Amino acid sequence: MSRNIHNAGMASKQNKRMFNEEEWSEDQCRTYLSIIRWPDGFCCPHCQATKVWPLKSGRLTCSKCRKQVSVTAGTPLQDTRLPLRTVLLAARHSFASPVGLSAVQLQKAVGLPRYQSAMNLLSRFRSCMAFPDDRMQGRVAVATGPIRTAGSGPSGVPVLAAIATSRQGPHYLFRRILNTDAERLKQNFRTYVQQGAVVLTDAADHWAWLDAESAYRHRPAADQDPLLKRCNNLLGALRDWLQNVHGGAVRTDHLQCYLDEFAFRAEYAEDPELAYTELVRRLIGPRPNRTFLV
Ligand SMILES: [Zn+2]
Repeated sequence: MSRNIHNAGMASKQNKRMFNEEEWSEDQCRTYLSIIRWPDGFCCPHCQATKVWPLKSGRLTCSKCRKQVSVTAGTPLQDTRLPLRTVLLAARHSFASPVGLSAVQLQKAVGLPRYQSAMNLLSRFRSCMAFPDDRMQGRVAVATGPIRTAGSGPSGVPVLAAIATSRQGPHYLFRRILNTDAERLKQNFRTYVQQGAVVLTDAADHWAWLDAESAYRHRPAADQDPLLKRCNNLLGALRDWLQNVHGGAVRTDHLQCYLDEFAFRAEYAEDPELAYTELVRRLIGPRPNRTFLV
């Protein structure tokens, strides 16, 4: 990810695309989101009817149950008071640079009158950036390290970082953990690392339990392996990102959402257009049911 941070060419390409979208009307934005939400045509979330009447307000009335439906109902964008055009522009700006924007930068970029609106919008974005259901598989490099948060003190809070390589390409995971005790790490592995994975770690004592785990093939002291080096480099890039983009102001209880964003950006670092499309698809999909394993 770090090598992309100063990729001005990519940012410039993004900005050209953004210029065209700034001319979209609110109706065009609503239609765009409707097509993503209901690619096979409208389906009422209450009664599954497929016929609908559009209202002047932009909402829809179901022809069968007569309930009014908005394109954002039941999605992470539900109840947003911001124009959909602003939301889409904000999502676009958010990927104009590989590192994203702070709330202050976003407020300025899309002309929001209130800082809190920019903060809320970025929170909605982050709420659907986690990869909840898939597990790391193949070769998996794992590292832990302290991350400073607002109020954490100089020792920081421990974070587990992992990169997996498989036929599907690299996959990233960052989890805030309470500590690096064996039981805590085992619990996270059972949740996030598929059985049979080849696990690369350094020689730290807190990985010793992996040698006795038949579910994984442990490769200790793999410090010189490029995948583990990359994993450690990403922990460094994460520290820089939290400090430089977010001013070191992220609180411990919000850290996981920022880790999700960092992993999402790493996942799509090579293709910001795909990152934007994927974020919009998630923003207009079902609301994620997040549980935090710490
Ligand atoms: Zn209905």
